[in-house]
Amino acid sequence: MMSHVLPTYNRAPISFEKGEGAWAIATDGTRYLDLGAGIAVNVLGHANPDLVAALTEQAGRIWHVSNLYQIPQQERLADLLVDNTFADTVFFTNSGTEAAELAIKMVRKYWDHAGDPDRIEILTFEGAFHGRSTGAIAAAGSDKMVKGFGPLMPGFRHLPWGDMEALKQGITKSTAAVMLEPVQGEGGIRPIADEDLRQIRALCDSVGALLVLDEVQCGMGRTGRLFAHEYAGIVPDIMMVAKGIGGGFPLGAVLATENAAKAMVAGTHGSTYGGNPLACAVGARVMEIVADDAFLAEVNRKAALFRQKLEGLVAAHPDVFDGVRGQGLMLGLKCRAAPADLVKAGYAQHILTVPAADSTLRLLPPLNITDEDIAEAVARLDRAAASLDA
Ligand SMILES: *Cc1c(COP(=O)(O)O)cnc(C)c1O
Repeated sequence: MMSHVLPTYNRAPISFEKGEGAWAIATDGTRYLDLGAGIAVNVLGHANPDLVAALTEQAGRIWHVSNLYQIPQQERLADLLVDNTFADTVFFTNSGTEAAELAIKMVRKYWDHAGDPDRIEILTFEGAFHGRSTGAIAAAGSDKMVKGFGPLMPGFRHLPWGDMEALKQGITKSTAAVMLEPVQGEGGIRPIADEDLRQIRALCDSVGALLVLDEVQCGMGRTGRLFAHEYAGIVPDIMMVAKGIGGGFPLGAVLATENAAKAMVAGTHGSTYGGNPLACAVGARVMEIVADDAFLAEVNRKAALFRQKLEGLVAAHPDVFDGVRGQGLMLGLKCRAAPADLVKAGYAQHILTVPAADSTLRLLPPLNITDEDIAEAVARLDRAAASLDA
């Protein structure tokens, strides 16, 4: 008989009943050090007291009203996002995928409004991940995601990751937009060089194309800046955010400039749940904490500490690891062994990690992980690697 939950996931045989900071406690009482953070979601760890307070205070008042009415919590979170970024306006979703859908729709509407409705081609990159909707899988285009789900939504062309020559050849005055993750997450923690991102911005400007950044995984302080593109000193026209923004509560957003969003007038897009009072009360608390310079300075200090220890780990296990990459607390261990085997070996040492493409093991701890937990994490990874060495 088929499992009552649609079996689309390869789940590990562990279930958790409680969390404390960077620790997740299984139903049998085992404490796991959580370096996955629910795939870069729990930016402030499990059961963070500030977030629990924000959630429960709002839960006792009103949860959901729909976007038929004003939502002050949504306006407050939009203010925080606009004040801290390039954006002039924000639309709230429940997930990264929905943010990708709106980003694509916004690009199309922009060119339709400009009197150029056939200008629909969006250039994307191999190894990208933008979600699992029909539009988002067409955007990413990998065989693994699209096989059997055709016909795909037209309007995407996939270029080799980081290949600036291919982009220079491919971008034309009929390109609608270029869409990319400043650090590919699922693709294997692959950052684009700052210089390349600046060049992509310049190429977009030279033909009038919009620049869409997917910061669903690399945003919200993950790389040590509030958003990863800040390192390159450029701004996008449209940006997708999700994962970390709700600290574990399902929430996403599309941020845009006034120019990019000008055609999105009343009736052009909507969501029943998107930006409800409960989600936005939590999101606003996350933003207040994460967008603080002192908090981000701590992320960078911890990232440097973690990275230094990981370089030592790689040097100690040259048959298992091939190097460290990433930025801030979005770290990848390039593996010689299969990442899935390392994840499994990690379970035996009671540490949670996440596999990615390109032979990479992802380490995405809560951004407020302690120095002691970083040291403990490396000790456990060392034992996991030793078990594969043997
Ligand atoms: C996870 C992810 C998405 C999709 O987000 P969901 O919340 O799973 O829909 C989109 N883009 C990137 C870069 C992601 O990491």
